[in-house]
Amino acid sequence: MGDHIHFGNIRDSYLPYGRQWIDADDIQAVVNVLKGDFLTTGPYVLEFERQVAQYVDAKYAVAFSNGTAALHAACFAAGIGEDDEVITTPMTFAASSNCVLYQKGKVIFADIDEQTYNIDPASIKDRITSKTKAIIPVDFTGQPAYMDLILNIAMEFNLIVIQDAAHSLGAAYKGRKIGALSDMTMFSFHPVKHITSGEGGMITTNNKEYFDKLMQFRTHGITRDKEKLQKDEGPWYYEMQFLGYNYRLTDIQAALGTSQLTKIDRFIELRKKYVDMYNKAFKNMPEIILPFQHEHTESSWHLYIIRLNLHLLSAGRREIFEALQKQNIGVNVHYIPVYLNPYYQELGYEKGLCPKAEKLYNEMITLPLFPSMTEQDAEDVIRAVQKTITLYRK
Ligand SMILES: *Cc1c(COP(=O)(O)O)cnc(C)c1O
Repeated sequence: MGDHIHFGNIRDSYLPYGRQWIDADDIQAVVNVLKGDFLTTGPYVLEFERQVAQYVDAKYAVAFSNGTAALHAACFAAGIGEDDEVITTPMTFAASSNCVLYQKGKVIFADIDEQTYNIDPASIKDRITSKTKAIIPVDFTGQPAYMDLILNIAMEFNLIVIQDAAHSLGAAYKGRKIGALSDMTMFSFHPVKHITSGEGGMITTNNKEYFDKLMQFRTHGITRDKEKLQKDEGPWYYEMQFLGYNYRLTDIQAALGTSQLTKIDRFIELRKKYVDMYNKAFKNMPEIILPFQHEHTESSWHLYIIRLNLHLLSAGRREIFEALQKQNIGVNVHYIPVYLNPYYQELGYEKGLCPKAEKLYNEMITLPLFPSMTEQDAEDVIRAVQKTITLYRK
């Protein structure tokens, strides 16, 4: 099979798996900043921080140039350094573990839970040693991780929890918005995420000490705070007290982010509408395992992932993926387990480390999901999937 099959005619244009939705008022918000006095380090960054903190019900928020920089800052604030071990999931974007390496810490990968694909608390517990310092759970696809169990483990072993919520802005765990459950929570505003500032990221926290460190880390480790200065040589005086970075967000970006945030609830509603369409269409197809939702979680649906029951199919994931691509459906795979990347392989991580994550990787396909897609787009995806699965049904 394969080459002689004609897959065309589902749609003329390519449907991406995700994309931003920018309106006239978003554009106007950016234009207003461009006409003003401050392009960076101005009032819009503060306003964006204030709005995000309020939305997720956290005391403090610190904006960064991107989510990866925010994770790096969180690892710094948590005091992660050489000899420290940090446990995270391999079923994530490389940033969730790279941030540990930036601080010279050691990444320990725990396996996933087969139902939600989130990090398995039992596997976390298995991998704790006397060197373990922190856990970085990822709210995979927008569904919050097993936060009660993770926070209990953190309490028992005195660990810091940095929640990677790049997928889960607007999601809830046991009725509480994601953003202040963990010591620090990271959001990303990359264009495929729930809201965008072009590039951008944020850490939310209820902890003043973390907040202070994050702020200083964002600007080279420099402070002008009189209470923190070792001496005072005059009104111009500042001190660089540790090695920080320039990880600042611009006011241009912050204005876009703030404008986008006013639409978050509608964006999530629309995502849910397309998720319902997919669920309904695929629920009677035994070849497809639908995304399982835990009773304690309310996902904000960053990604919609189907898992293939390969023993019911005459083709592998690759053929099915390529067949969907040929029909102009922008499928994707989230993710290649991080430690299978050559860089991590060279660090000594071996295949087989997290068997459940590796198995999932071989069976998963991400379908297009974003608020500005249309019902027709979703129907195109459904028809293409049904057609392809029917063709390869054993
Ligand atoms: C997007 C993302 C990040 C970081 O994103 P940036 O592109 O640096 O803003 C981190 N973790 C996960 C799981 C992500 O999806």
